[in-house]
Amino acid sequence: MWFYKNHAKKKMSFVVGIDGPAGTGKGTITERLAKKYNFVNIDTGATYRCVTLQMLREKIKLEDEEKIADMLKNIKIEMENQKGTLKVFLNGEDVTKEIRSKEVTKNVSQVSSIKQIRLSMATLQRKMAQGKNVIMEGRDICTVVFPTADVKIYLDADDEERAKRRFKQNQEKNIDMPYEEVLENIRKRDKNDKEKEFGALKVADGATVIDSTNMTIKEVEKEISKIIDKKLKAKKKEEKIYKERPETTWKKIERATIKAILHAFYKIVFRLEKVNEENLPMDEPVIVCANHLNTWDAVGLVVCSKRRIRFIAKEDLFNNGFLNWIGHVFDVIPIKRGMRDMEAMKRCIKALKNGETLGIFPEGTRRGLAKGAKVQNGAAYMALKTKVKVVPVGIQGSFKPFTKVTLNYGKPLDFTKNDDKNPEKEKLDQATKEIMDNIIMLTNSTK
Ligand code: C5P
Repeated sequence: MWFYKNHAKKKMSFVVGIDGPAGTGKGTITERLAKKYNFVNIDTGATYRCVTLQMLREKIKLEDEEKIADMLKNIKIEMENQKGTLKVFLNGEDVTKEIRSKEVTKNVSQVSSIKQIRLSMATLQRKMAQGKNVIMEGRDICTVVFPTADVKIYLDADDEERAKRRFKQNQEKNIDMPYEEVLENIRKRDKNDKEKEFGALKVADGATVIDSTNMTIKEVEKEISKIIDKKLKAKKKEEKIYKERPETTWKKIERATIKAILHAFYKIVFRLEKVNEENLPMDEPVIVCANHLNTWDAVGLVVCSKRRIRFIAKEDLFNNGFLNWIGHVFDVIPIKRGMRDMEAMKRCIKALKNGETLGIFPEGTRRGLAKGAKVQNGAAYMALKTKVKVVPVGIQGSFKPFTKVTLNYGKPLDFTKNDDKNPEKEKLDQATKEIMDNIIMLTNSTK
């Protein structure tokens, strides 16, 4: 039904939303920023203007819901960037100029108050933005269309200043309308836009408000660019950490090579010995839980165990280029510390459902037990939630070169019979205690 002709080149999807009343310079700023960052420019006001024009052409009354629904089914709105200027097409016809006419401008605010039109346009706008880097201007972009936009801006300005700007813009476009009428129109539209039942114009949560009354376009552009640059940098960094590396032959070779080299290193330098490794099942999802002595132990478990173990590690580790590479080769799951990281939890559960092995240190931090740190319930939660076994491992040794290190694998703790999808804290504490008691026992014996 609807298409967008301009395709973004980059894969990362990034959304900049600019809301604000008429005449604040949203259109100009959006056009400039779209060009600067190679973002797809979506003028959402133009979509409402197209609908208004079509309703005027078909003489559809505002209250005729049936005809409006029919019109929405058949309308085709397209936007195309032609040499840096946004062209708008309605059912294939270039209406870029016509949608700015007096008649359309006078009626658009009322048309855009109709709920079914708003719902339909919001869907269209989201479709236009799908998978692309976009900059969208409108009234409800950051509140309704994309409440999770990466950058949210509310551009404001004094109404007389806005009327002056719109009047000048109209003159340049040969649109004949006295200044007083432009001002009155703006005030009417402001009132209507702010009082709409659906998609009313307001400052979105987390939006930066910029008052452009005494600012030049360049100054506004600079201000918004600073915010975009900061967010783009953060998003790229996040992508580098969170984007999973597909399982290719080359990745398998890298993993096998690193494993072989490090395994030999652990055997020679740490005289690493495995006890009862047969306790680690090979053909079902399991969680390996061990005591945490230092950074060497996680690597030791990963490179020396017969099964591929995916560990969970704090996000900060991925900031180091080398560790980032290793982390992706071994599919380490990054976790944000100091908060409930639901994303990490989802990844872990997905891995278990996929039949994989997870490695978790319930102590949370190195020598957590000795430091009196609170043992974490994460492993128990996932084991109960996904009904998998937990293999406790006691790691013994000091990891001083040429002294012995032992990985002591215990019998699997069976949580597969659990039917409680949302285990309560008491149950989790009990399971965590069972896991920790076994780990402690295994750190003291090698039987
Ligand atoms: O931005 P522009 O002036 O072209 O928008 C025309 C009208 O469309 C606005 O006055 C507003 O009533 C409506 N609109 C809206 N929601 C948007 C964009 C525009 O209601 N996201």
